[in-house]
Amino acid sequence: MNLKLIFLGPPGAGKGTLADMFEERKGWKHLSTGDLLREEIKKKSELGLKAKEYMDKGLLVPDELVVELLKNHLDASKGFILDGFPRNLRQAQILEEERIEVDLAINFKVSAETIISRLSGRRICSRCGRIYHLINIPPKKEGICDECGGPLYQREDDKEEVIRKRLEVYEKEIAEVLKFYKERNKLKEISAEGQAEEIYKRIEKVIVDYGQERENTG
Ligand code: AMP
Repeated sequence: MNLKLIFLGPPGAGKGTLADMFEERKGWKHLSTGDLLREEIKKKSELGLKAKEYMDKGLLVPDELVVELLKNHLDASKGFILDGFPRNLRQAQILEEERIEVDLAINFKVSAETIISRLSGRRICSRCGRIYHLINIPPKKEGICDECGGPLYQREDDKEEVIRKRLEVYEKEIAEVLKFYKERNKLKEISAEGQAEEIYKRIEKVIVDYGQERENTG
């Protein structure tokens, strides 16, 4: 099955880690608008420089910038997982207007304590982007990526004050997005507490059920 999924959930819910696992095991492309924006910042492109001003403050980057970037990277003829997009109602509407069909929007439910602990321990490889956690997913060698040997770093916006702002922005915008997918019968909720493998199994079950439903309705 070649699925088109949206992973919704607050920062620190584990969307990126799980999307990486699905990409590796099922081949559906993981597209994170946050990662794409950070790449643009690294390249010092015009778009990256504009986006950085918002990101450093924990605010959303203007829709037109994010949509342009996503369109450049999305191949709608194949399976994909959108991670961090849509972030507001307008972005969800744009996807639909562009006729980018989505099978399911999976909402990661997680407590505030879990979020803070995951984000403050999160480390990322500066070379290949792989995600680690000091306690839950530690690298074999401290500060070094298991995959490519690149140095690990902490995101600027994973510092506590910015985390709080990001959560506030998330809560304000996401209710309308959830409603949008619920009305279209595409919204599924999973608990995102616990270890990555457990969360993987919960999502897999949702996907299997969806496949069966689709077969039954022809
Ligand atoms: P993330 O890696 O998903 O936590 O995103 C990091 C930051 O990138 C966010 O705090 C926003 O500033 C920006 N960003 C990522 N995705 C979007 C989006 N879909 N719309 C607007 N801003 C975004």
